[in-house]
Amino acid sequence: MARNKVQFEKGLSERPFRDLYGSEDQCRAALFAWRWPKGFVCPRCGAERCSQIKGRKLYQCSACRHQVSLTAGTIFHSTNLPLTIWFQAMYLITQSKKGISSLELARRLGVTQTTAWKVQQKLAQVMLDREENNPVGGPHKRVEMDDAYLGGARHGAKRGRGASGKTPIVVAVETTSEGRPHRLKIRAVKGFRKAEIKKLSCHLLAPGTTVVSDGLSCFTAVTHAGCRHDPVVTGGGAQAAQIAAFKWVNTTIGNIKNSIRGTYHAIRPKHLPRYLAQFEYRFNRRYRLEDMITRLAWVALRTPPMPYRLLKLAENGA
Ligand SMILES: [Zn+2]
Repeated sequence: MARNKVQFEKGLSERPFRDLYGSEDQCRAALFAWRWPKGFVCPRCGAERCSQIKGRKLYQCSACRHQVSLTAGTIFHSTNLPLTIWFQAMYLITQSKKGISSLELARRLGVTQTTAWKVQQKLAQVMLDREENNPVGGPHKRVEMDDAYLGGARHGAKRGRGASGKTPIVVAVETTSEGRPHRLKIRAVKGFRKAEIKKLSCHLLAPGTTVVSDGLSCFTAVTHAGCRHDPVVTGGGAQAAQIAAFKWVNTTIGNIKNSIRGTYHAIRPKHLPRYLAQFEYRFNRRYRLEDMITRLAWVALRTPPMPYRLLKLAENGA
């Protein structure tokens, strides 16, 4: 494999990570600064003065006496875990290029797999929320779009479109004017129907985008999102054209499949959106590995709590 920029992108190595976030006090100070960058603000009355209740890790508003913990109302809500574990989890999830399984995360954090699973799913929810309203493309921008199936039975199943037991996904890769991949969107869909693609495009694509796809008819629906559709008819002798036009979207689909096979082995379809969100989030920030923790924690502090009950609930694909 050719050397590329990402493989040599300097991440935050373990030593400086520990120097920055190795103790509970350091993590607490960092979260305080990110939650209240201009100093404490009471979530109930908006007052800006508080006193710290010693021994209970609570802040009491000097105006209305409301007591609030640093993590209340955020994705870290009522956690019993040390903050150092959360920081370590953010580190491991964001710095691993291929993703990390909950089993491996449990081993590295020294917690049970259920705990690791919950931590990972909550952080993935933050990534999902963050990527939700962050479309790719725009005027004069080019996006490659393709469909694929993930998971399902590996042996004896039908291949390709219409295969049973597999989850249909749509992948969109924005390319730069130099033809390099820029940003990425991956979504599970209910099927490759025009109505589904129309709904998806309105979320994923900024108006004015030129969308390159194969001839699958549902992709004409991107025009409903104010995009231009540039179908490339594939098959037959057009094999070479196909490879050039869809190079990045095909590479990405291959990487997702490898990641799931190699790292997670299998993913229940209902949990797929949060796994895809981790892949997408990491890819879209692959040149900014050093400030991944700051950025993820910042959004996590602004993401509402996600109880275990909700994490376990089935999601509706897209
Ligand atoms: Zn108050």
